[in-house]
Amino acid sequence: MTTPTPGRVWAHVGQPFTPGTDPQGPHDVLILGAGRMGSALALALTEHAPHLKTLLIEEGGLPNEDGATILAPGVWTLAHLPAAQHDAARWTLNRLRTLLGDALQARPYLTLHAEPAPGTQPTRDLLAAHPQSLALLDPGAFPHARAHEAHTYRPGTLAQVAAQSAIRRGTDLLLNTRATPHPGGRVTLERLTVTNTHQIVTHETHTLHAPLIVLATGAHAPTQAEHHLGVHTRHARAYRQTPHLATPSTEDAPVLHAHGLTLRPQHGAYTLIPPIHHRDPHGYAPQGGHLTGVPTGLRRETLEDLVGLMDALPALATSDLHLGRSLADIPGAWLALPGGQPGAPPTHDRLDDHTHLLLGGPHADTLGLWTADALAREIAGGRGQ
Ligand code: ADP
Repeated sequence: MTTPTPGRVWAHVGQPFTPGTDPQGPHDVLILGAGRMGSALALALTEHAPHLKTLLIEEGGLPNEDGATILAPGVWTLAHLPAAQHDAARWTLNRLRTLLGDALQARPYLTLHAEPAPGTQPTRDLLAAHPQSLALLDPGAFPHARAHEAHTYRPGTLAQVAAQSAIRRGTDLLLNTRATPHPGGRVTLERLTVTNTHQIVTHETHTLHAPLIVLATGAHAPTQAEHHLGVHTRHARAYRQTPHLATPSTEDAPVLHAHGLTLRPQHGAYTLIPPIHHRDPHGYAPQGGHLTGVPTGLRRETLEDLVGLMDALPALATSDLHLGRSLADIPGAWLALPGGQPGAPPTHDRLDDHTHLLLGGPHADTLGLWTADALAREIAGGRGQ
């Protein structure tokens, strides 16, 4: 096997981007968005279709500080998946092992229950080795728990590793560039730069053509499909905040899950991942809520979820919970909802003769790599164009 020539990277506008004069010819595939889905697709294409030349285009850096990827929980688990998706999840886990190595950490995942259910054991027994975790909750409210296999990782690292591996195998990468898809396999590019007054401005524009375009722009993808390609999809998006709980956690603390809320040990404390109840309506602008009349940065639905759990999880009722004064104080990101459903797996769709859409969404931690690989196999099989 010959070693592939590594791809090129244009990180900033100081590096001239002249694809029209490229001796290697134009690109076969343009992937818009280098979150974990777009990056995973780029890598999978180098494996399934090494003859195709791909350009990965990202509006921010790698990984982008704003996307859903950077704030995703990074918890692989079968706990909430129907049996039909377990094979795809296991495949994803193997792939995570290959890409992340030691950066993938096995840890217990406990679902907490008020009533006994199949597979549950006493919560006190399961948490006997984790007194700090036990102290977070009222064991009387959750006397039963079920342990599931889980692995945690940083999705931002995954996006970075996948993109870097793809580049080593020939994929080109264009950063700090906003891409807009158009019908007929055309994409316009705005190379962005920051002025000395911190404004983001367009430095130059380009137009590219390619037989195949993949929208992997996360929560933006369904809107882009509708606005720029005129294709209406079933997909939607929701704004998810991930508040911080400053209660200490140990290196091996289990992930806890109660009534849809996940407590993910991270950085010696916890990140809270609230449930997504529904899609956010078109035009919804996230706003903070009020707790006993005082403005907080947590959106109202999230606040209601946390207040509802304060008796059962007393740690939430302490000053450890970071409420913020405004929305900007609490990390949050728009998340794609495949099919408009919070529980739906990642998906890919054909939008028109040239364009595919690739969406991760809430289950991307457990199934995203599988879905990206499935699209790469479809493209490699010639069914992609
Ligand atoms: P996913 O989990 O599906 O990868 P993300 O939101 O993490 O979702 O990734 C989408 C990526 O697409 C982000 O890094 C975002 O910066 C990028 N992106 C969004 N819109 C555009 C655009 N118009 N052009 C280029 N990149 C974009």
